[in-house]
Amino acid sequence: MSDNQHIVCPGCGAVNRIARARLGDHPNCGKCHQPLFQGRPVELNAVNFERQVGRSDIPVLVDFWAPWCGPCKMMAPQFEQAARRLEPRLRLAKVDTEAEQALGARFGIRSIPTLALFRGGREIARQAGAMGAADIERWVQNNL
Ligand SMILES: [Zn+2]
Repeated sequence: MSDNQHIVCPGCGAVNRIARARLGDHPNCGKCHQPLFQGRPVELNAVNFERQVGRSDIPVLVDFWAPWCGPCKMMAPQFEQAARRLEPRLRLAKVDTEAEQALGARFGIRSIPTLALFRGGREIARQAGAMGAADIERWVQNNL
């Protein structure tokens, strides 16, 4: 079993190989030299979704949201806080379902916010409704 993890750069999309033991040492991207973990969710769209979710060796937690959704806005800072606490064990990401309607349709998102947890490119859990940071962390732990 490899001790290296594939981590997709949130900036340039390069797939970096990082030793598992070094994940917590604030690694930078080998290509664009930006931090691989920035303590905030990565914005995903039709272009970078596949790469971030499909090529990442760490699980990816995606918040499907929309700008007009009040509960989504209330949850946003909670999700940011969860990102700071769950990185680098997890990548947190957001999909604006209004701007990226094809992604929302592909995953059959019927209500927002919806959290979907991916591992190895496959969805393994889903939860609709706004949650606080502590509840998000607990939900992730229970589903990994
Ligand atoms: Zn990069």
